[in-house]
Amino acid sequence: MQLLSLTLDGFKSFAQKTTIKFEPGMTGIIGPNGSGKSNIIEAIRWVMGEQSARHLRGDKMADVIFNGAADRQPLNRALVSITLDNSDHYLASDFRELTITRKLYRNGDSEYLINGRKVRLKDITDLFIDSGLGRESFSIISQGRVAAVFNGKPVDRRGIIETVAGVAKYKQNKETAEKRLTATMDNLNRVNDIISELS
Ligand code: ATP
Repeated sequence: MQLLSLTLDGFKSFAQKTTIKFEPGMTGIIGPNGSGKSNIIEAIRWVMGEQSARHLRGDKMADVIFNGAADRQPLNRALVSITLDNSDHYLASDFRELTITRKLYRNGDSEYLINGRKVRLKDITDLFIDSGLGRESFSIISQGRVAAVFNGKPVDRRGIIETVAGVAKYKQNKETAEKRLTATMDNLNRVNDIISELS
């Protein structure tokens, strides 16, 4: 799976439709302070289903819509599209190429599309589940998060490593199973008490 291109249209500082092609060998994006490098990363997070405005350095989700500049009126809609080469079917889809689009209007209406077809947010989330990508993953680490990782307690850092290694999911399953086991043992003890009272 490979990131082929990203289109931003009305997203944050990208008032004008802008397409970035990720050619083989491209390893970074550089630019002066405030030129929109972080906005590009946030666009990737957003199109993959990010639901927290705070994670996108905003107070409310509408903050991702271009809100005007000295020479330009605010826009009413933000659109981001990401195109992925999925010929190895790394993502659970039959499509060899996937274009995922998210739109948000100022009135709060939003749309998600996969290859031009309207889908639910859940379809986007499911697509990225177990892929190491997606909004909850550590494939994208923001500037603030780097500091949080360095300054975090060892136990928190261990949590991050466990999530990245895919262990966290099994730990959670184990905890659920242990709780069920304890509840079953309690029930069994109660049944044994009743049996001994009756005999
Ligand atoms: P640095 O190198 O300092 O981290 P950067 O290149 O990552 O900067 P960004 O943080 O991506 O830059 O871009 C910040 C710019 O985006 C600011 O000028 C800010 O005003 C602008 N911006 C953010 N949200 C919007 C919006 N909704 N509408 C218009 N401009 C916006």
